Amino acid sequence: MSAGKLKIYAGKVIAIDGPAGSGKSTIARKIAERLGFEYLDTGAMYRAVAWVMREEKLDPDKLDDFEYMRNNWNMTFHYDGTRTVVHDGSRDISEDIRNEEITAASSAVALRPRVREFMVALQQQRIARGSVVLEGRDTGTIVAPRAHVKIFLVADPRTRAERRFLEYMRNGIATSVEEQLEKMAERDRQDSGRSIGPLAKAPDAIVVDTTELNIEEAVEAVLKVCKTRMSPATTSGGRQ
Ligand code: C5P
Repeated sequence: MSAGKLKIYAGKVIAIDGPAGSGKSTIARKIAERLGFEYLDTGAMYRAVAWVMREEKLDPDKLDDFEYMRNNWNMTFHYDGTRTVVHDGSRDISEDIRNEEITAASSAVALRPRVREFMVALQQQRIARGSVVLEGRDTGTIVAPRAHVKIFLVADPRTRAERRFLEYMRNGIATSVEEQLEKMAERDRQDSGRSIGPLAKAPDAIVVDTTELNIEEAVEAVLKVCKTRMSPATTSGGRQ
């Protein structure tokens, strides 16, 4: 689509939530590319918290440790066209935050209300400028309750586990579909069960089931919803 045509969408906020393996990251990135928006991977931010806690041997339950982390927060996040690049100061930790240990630790750290409050405040600073696709668990409910478009992606658990299995295999990490099925069930339980910012569908979110869709089909389905919702005829002035 030409830059001229995209202008009508400038400034809008799109929130895409869903469980691991629902296709969120790939779809959110592609939607951002197609619309000329920035992509904000909120999961990478929780991963970065887990990473720094581990690196600095901090305990997220201790207020002093949390304050230390917050006062020394020096993380930057940007999408380079293929992945979210994360720097802690000058150190590139993009790969380090993706291992299994940090994956599990990020879900645990994301349960802490003060961690969520800190992350949500950072995320809201970004969405104030608009033209962004947010991806996470609570972006349509908590981070950007007035987003112009809210999408909630779902897929059946086995399909999600198979996708995650293939992703790990591509990255040379040995695992099995059964193992991923178990780990995802545990992460889903933690993400959906927490009292603050749980994984949840906003009442006004559109559900897209990606079980039977390949990536291109899923992107087209989501893009169609986005364009309809953001078209001047249907927008009602929603913001973050
Ligand atoms: O999306 P991703 O798997 O990278 O997220 C890592 C973890 O961060 C998730 O398991 C979830 O517990 C947490 N998270 C969250 N809220 C978000 C995004 C991620 O609690 N908005």
